[in-house]
Amino acid sequence: MTALDGLPPLREVIRTHDLIAKKQLGQNFLLDLNLTAKIARCAGDLTGCDVLEVGPGPGGLTRGLLAEGARRVLAVEKDPRCLPALAEIAAHYPGRLEVINGDALEIDVAAHLTPPIKIAANLPYNVGTELLVRWLTPPEWPPFWDSLTLMFQKEVAQRIVAKTGDNHYGRLALLAQWRCDVKIVMHLPPEAFTPAPKVHSAVVHLKALPAPRYPADPKVLNRIVAAGFNQRRKMLRASLKGVAPNIEALLEEAGIAPTERAERVSLEQFCHLARIVAAQ
Ligand code: SAM
Repeated sequence: MTALDGLPPLREVIRTHDLIAKKQLGQNFLLDLNLTAKIARCAGDLTGCDVLEVGPGPGGLTRGLLAEGARRVLAVEKDPRCLPALAEIAAHYPGRLEVINGDALEIDVAAHLTPPIKIAANLPYNVGTELLVRWLTPPEWPPFWDSLTLMFQKEVAQRIVAKTGDNHYGRLALLAQWRCDVKIVMHLPPEAFTPAPKVHSAVVHLKALPAPRYPADPKVLNRIVAAGFNQRRKMLRASLKGVAPNIEALLEEAGIAPTERAERVSLEQFCHLARIVAAQ
């Protein structure tokens, strides 16, 4: 039996290539091609775009991205056992799928891609947050990519989209929302994956803004946010003591009560404070 795209169903691919999931590689596969096409559509119009996919595994999402019209997909996969399955997809879509066998944390992918570039991935949970932080903190902004459409465990997705005062509000929300529009676009129960993980998952779409939402020096902003949230229960006049000796006066100048806690300070206020600190 063949699937709609003319390739074998994913369960058969997994059986043929003996792809028994490895926990240490974060392997929880999506086997429903309707679902992977739906995730691919969350990335928006793919025609005319290069798409970077990290961790294609047996290729469910890869097939969705190609079927939805991506000009090219560059797929970086650490597990060499997946390569024969991915080679079958590459043969089915001539010239449109390049596979690199390696660790996405170590490979410089930008050189392999031509703009406009989108990133879409069902990320391995163990490296997902680290990759996201790297994509959000390049030396120059705008970055090499236009948008990120990424699967995370639900709690991480909530940390990315959290608003001031929410339980999940912190460094990741500020980092992401400073430079992107962010939105949870899909929720997935554990049973959507094989094997089923213990946690629920969600797909987050991040669209890069042409410039950060409010001006601020990234290093100063990062230092303030890190210090504020490292001791999130403390008042800012205490947690930010190491940032500047006269921090109380600077907080007041930024319109932030020195007795306030980081979780109640908005992105706009943090950026304002960063500008005042940088001007010292
Ligand atoms: N995209 C497939 C899907 O949706 O069914 C597989 C997703 S699975 C959650 C994560 C994939 O990332 C696995 O195929 C795993 O081998 C791969 N992987 C894990 N760590 C990686 C890394 N550092 N670099 C590249 N791929 C990695």
